[in-house]
Amino acid sequence: MKVSCLEFSKICFVLSVCLCAALLLLIPWRQRDLSQPHPVLTCTNTYLETPAEPARFTAPLRWEEWESPGAGVKAAATAEDRQLAKKPLRVEDLFIAVKTTKKYHKSRLSLLMQTWISRAKLQTFIFTDWEDQELRQEAGDQMVNTNCSSVHTRQALCCKMAVEYDKFVLSGKKWFCHVDDDNYVNVRALVDLLSALSPSRDVYVGRPSLNHPVETPDRVKGDGSVTLKFWFATGGAGFCISRGLALKMSPWASMGNFISTAEKVRLPDDCTIGYIIEGLLEVKMQHSNLFHSHLENLERLSPDSLLQQVTLSYGGPENQRNVVRVSGPFSVKEDPTRFKSVHCLLYPDTSWCPDRRSTSR
Ligand code: UDP
Ligand code: MN
Repeated sequence: MKVSCLEFSKICFVLSVCLCAALLLLIPWRQRDLSQPHPVLTCTNTYLETPAEPARFTAPLRWEEWESPGAGVKAAATAEDRQLAKKPLRVEDLFIAVKTTKKYHKSRLSLLMQTWISRAKLQTFIFTDWEDQELRQEAGDQMVNTNCSSVHTRQALCCKMAVEYDKFVLSGKKWFCHVDDDNYVNVRALVDLLSALSPSRDVYVGRPSLNHPVETPDRVKGDGSVTLKFWFATGGAGFCISRGLALKMSPWASMGNFISTAEKVRLPDDCTIGYIIEGLLEVKMQHSNLFHSHLENLERLSPDSLLQQVTLSYGGPENQRNVVRVSGPFSVKEDPTRFKSVHCLLYPDTSWCPDRRSTSR
């Protein structure tokens, strides 16, 4: 059979069209094959899949379960929300970080251990800067030696906050709460407050230290030519962040990123938290007057509502006598911070609390 030159080029054309079509069909399959095992991994996914201490912590939750609605996993998050709404919040769902330092182990921390920490031992982690053998004996793995410097500088305090954040993410717990070592935490009131909120939503709750938002140049997302306005919860009164929101903070907070973020904006640790949440993530802080630092006049707190407050504090450099008003069971001389008295009113069954009937001071 004789094939003309024209017919030959027609056949070649048809064959090349077929070849192209076949190649086009193959491309998507190749791509899908490559992306099969891991859709898009972020370091937060990696965190959650490799918990460091699975024995003591509750099982870590999958990212999908915690992702906030609107980010492509709406259905999963909503189902999780419904499930959470049914499950009452337990103290086991909290991760309470106490920031302390070598010189306050005896003078401040031991009072907390004796009082409120004793009621939330496994949920409370002590972040310090010194391998104190005595404290290690007492607190075991609940004491975290951050290896951060023991000076009161922005960098040293941010270093501790960075370790607190990373440890919380690894824990798989629903709520991250931070307090200082001069805070009393009313654990029951804290659970009550957080019970009304969803850990899979974006929640940042605490007390602002100023009555106006902070304004600072955006040197993280931008070049500093634009300013960001944001509120922040004062660390000295304590604050809490939901797991859903904490995971979103990861690009600026996890694996040492918190330190570099704080360095870029040159802000203290608590302020940097506000910067990330309100400034960068555009999530509004919930202002609560249940958290208290010694920046306020603590004497002004009504004794009637004292036992409903989430955190309390005492003293402060300017006024060592700045304490809450509480009647008994200990005198101000026996209990200058008033924490023991508050504790005995909250937990009268405590072994060292005097019999309430015979005491009222
Ligand atoms: N702190 C610290 N390193 C220091 C000094 C203080 O980690 O060198 C901690 C301290 O344990 C407390 C918090 O920082 O939890 C705030 O310290 P302090 O109450 O002395 O100061 P404030 O800022 O409240 O005036
Ligand atoms: Mn303080």
